[in-house]
Amino acid sequence: MTFSPPTTDAQLAACQTLAIELARATSEPALVERALDVLAQLIPNRALCVRVVDLRTREPARAYVRGSAIRESLIGDDIVISEVALAHARLKSAVAASARVRVRDRWDSPFTGIATGFAIPLAAAGEIYGVLDVGYAPGNDARAGDEPAIHTFAVQLAVALRTVKLQDDALGLRDYQARLLESANALILGIDRSWRITVCNRALLDLTGFARDEMLGRDVRDFIPSEQRQHLTSAFAAALLGQHHTAVTVALPTRAGSTVRTVWSIAPVGRAGAPGGPIDAVVAIGQDQSKIEALQEQIVRAERLATLGELAAGVVHELNNPLTSITVYAEYLVRKLESQGAEAPDVEKLRRIGASAQRILRFSRDLVQYARPSGRDLEPVDVAAVVRQSVSICEHLVDRGGIMLGVEVDPELPIIRAIAGQLEQVLINLITNAVHAVESVARESRPGDRSDGHVIVRAQVEGPSTIVIEVADSGPGIPEADREKIFEPFFTTKPDGKGTGLGLPIVRNIIEQHRGEISITSSDLGGAAFRVILPVL
Ligand code: ADP
Repeated sequence: MTFSPPTTDAQLAACQTLAIELARATSEPALVERALDVLAQLIPNRALCVRVVDLRTREPARAYVRGSAIRESLIGDDIVISEVALAHARLKSAVAASARVRVRDRWDSPFTGIATGFAIPLAAAGEIYGVLDVGYAPGNDARAGDEPAIHTFAVQLAVALRTVKLQDDALGLRDYQARLLESANALILGIDRSWRITVCNRALLDLTGFARDEMLGRDVRDFIPSEQRQHLTSAFAAALLGQHHTAVTVALPTRAGSTVRTVWSIAPVGRAGAPGGPIDAVVAIGQDQSKIEALQEQIVRAERLATLGELAAGVVHELNNPLTSITVYAEYLVRKLESQGAEAPDVEKLRRIGASAQRILRFSRDLVQYARPSGRDLEPVDVAAVVRQSVSICEHLVDRGGIMLGVEVDPELPIIRAIAGQLEQVLINLITNAVHAVESVARESRPGDRSDGHVIVRAQVEGPSTIVIEVADSGPGIPEADREKIFEPFFTTKPDGKGTGLGLPIVRNIIEQHRGEISITSSDLGGAAFRVILPVL
């Protein structure tokens, strides 16, 4: 066994081999394993160990070995380097920054059964990336020759570890930034100095319907419709000169040929570390205006509701007592006149007085219902029971009109958190409307005839955490143009003062309080279908 130190030629050859390997290595394990192979050839029959420091935690993280076993607790142990090595590698600050690198002149062997050897810190740019240990079996100490011979090799390995680390960091950072942009709840568009699109995030692609490769690299001006070109081009041009623009409204063209109203904030991106210096790019951050408009609408509705609530409470309070008197006395007088054999037209007039007063009472009660905040807590509710109860309340309506009322309830329907009485009210309103719609068709086609219309109430599991309740009818359906209007308070198309126009606004209110959604589709029965989606929890 020879333990002569390597010749200068061998050292040179090893460094060259290492340089070639380093250029190929893309990961730390691949790099260190190859480096140890080269080193084991250069100085054979030594125990070799590279411990790599995790720069984030500054702790020894991984160990790679050749020619010996290492201590089991090695990764948990501190890295010990000598005063001379420390001065050599200019590592004072790196040692100070890590509680796990200590300075001591006695070599701390990482190997089992080996007490002679030395350690070289793998240092680059003042940072410690690891430590290389070389150990000798008893009687084979070749330290004096080895240590200077492998010094250049160690420097080269440290630089390579640094490169891999920087590369990892750069890729990680690029990924992280890409994910930030992708997940941002805003439209993000970046352009470079020559107007080419360099960044467009998922929200923007989703809104416009374009694929990423249809936008990236294209001139942003190609996407701006001609009527907006002038003001947008000047906003971008101003940004390239360093100016910020906020609240720039853009009718964004979509792939499908329509436009979406959006609002943007356009800002210059200067060169890193050179504030006030040249502008490299422009970043525009936008919001889908239709979302904002929907929110504004909700606020307006809530405000209107609050005003109406106050008004309603006052009106009902004032109306309740006199109206109750009118209906009670009218009923009393009807009975009295009938028993006295009064003229039928007079009795009828009196009956109408009573019915009209009833109607005003009903209207004012609806009004209060509409405006009253629920304020009650949600409780576990069996939706199937609510459906059955509501259907049975509406039975008289259905029987009277000769309408077929079907009920289809999924037996697997979960218990949901809701206010049972309010859900019942939703269903009664929807079923009543459906029955009226079906009757209106019958009235038009065969006046005086009993209807052969259908209404179906369905309740099903919709998704993992939602259920859907649907009320479908064979009525005339709802024209597209009315589908939003029918939820406005006081919108009614019902004749003879039959409607108050408050049923659906109440329904929508209750559903919103339950964090659900209501939508209208065409039903398989030929008329309208109201779909109510409710969260289970
Ligand atoms: P009301 O029933 O007092 O008119 P609603 O708010 O409940 O008030 O309904 C508003 C309007 O919506 C109704 O007048 C009717 O025009 C329309 N509508 C509601 N449900 C249906 C339905 N199932 N089919 C057709 N039109 C409907």
